[in-house]
Amino acid sequence: MGFFKQKTNIIFLFVIFLLVAVLSGISYFAYEKHNDYVAVSASLSDNSTALEEAQKKIDELTAKIAEYDEGVIKSEQEKAELNSQLQAALQEKAKLEQENSNLKSEIEQLKTEKRREELQKAIALKNVNQADTAEGGICYLTFDDGPSDNTLKILDILDAYGIKATFFVVGTSKQEYMPQIVSRGHAIGLHSTTHKYDVIYKDINSYLADIQQISDIVYNTTGVRSNIIRFPGGSSNMVSAGYCKGIMTDLTVRMPSLGYSYYDWNVSSGDANAARVPAQTIVNNVLNGAKGKSSICVLMHDNGGKTTTVEALPAIIEGLDAMGFRFAPLTAEVFGFHQKVNN
Ligand SMILES: [Zn+2]
Repeated sequence: MGFFKQKTNIIFLFVIFLLVAVLSGISYFAYEKHNDYVAVSASLSDNSTALEEAQKKIDELTAKIAEYDEGVIKSEQEKAELNSQLQAALQEKAKLEQENSNLKSEIEQLKTEKRREELQKAIALKNVNQADTAEGGICYLTFDDGPSDNTLKILDILDAYGIKATFFVVGTSKQEYMPQIVSRGHAIGLHSTTHKYDVIYKDINSYLADIQQISDIVYNTTGVRSNIIRFPGGSSNMVSAGYCKGIMTDLTVRMPSLGYSYYDWNVSSGDANAARVPAQTIVNNVLNGAKGKSSICVLMHDNGGKTTTVEALPAIIEGLDAMGFRFAPLTAEVFGFHQKVNN
């Protein structure tokens, strides 16, 4: 009579088997992590004992040599022997000290990783339910000029914290990463095809042709017809005045009338202020810029060269979370953080 003759029973057993396999995988991983910590702690304890013994030996030898100097020991040979033992003991101690400091930094590293994992889980949990917890304000993280060699790293960090952001892309680089931006739940916006000011701000038609082209690239690679844009240099840029007087005044009215929402920013990470801005400076710029604001749109860059932006991102997310911000991708309905138009 067959338990195993019933197809549903076999499927049921298979599902149970899969669940057990997945759960053991997860707990094994957690156990391994814990084991690392236990193993390093044990090594540190052994090392500390050895270090104490080495110090004891040094003290004993130093005392013996002192006896020689006081004339208790007469033999030159014995003194030389003691000295060479002392040198060996000092070397052993130096080696142990080095090991000791390595083990301590390894433990600190494990602690930091553990703390970061805990923060990632906590932030992800808060952002699942952002509508309920948004009294601290919403943060829109935005990345311009990608995709690039950093895009996948940025996506991995955002995934680790379970948060969504916005990428204003260009047509000149790693277009093969565009689908991942969309499939991993982020907003994709249009920045420019060429990002060349003299081309796009030459006249209205040049701008429109450029934005249409990047729109088609995004559509053809991701299936999304994006209606959110960011002007190269922002709507307040003065560079365009050198190519076409009044073009930003026109575009900031024309683009919304064509169905696009445009976005500037109210917090700049400053990651484009130099070829390589130190990660800590980028973190400080964002956290200081966010102070006292109820809702923020943060300007960052996703260029191959902006590796310190990637480095800074975890601390930026953790810092903004601690200030009460919840993270969301931009949508066409969101207020645009518009700056004052200067041309
Ligand atoms: Zn740009």
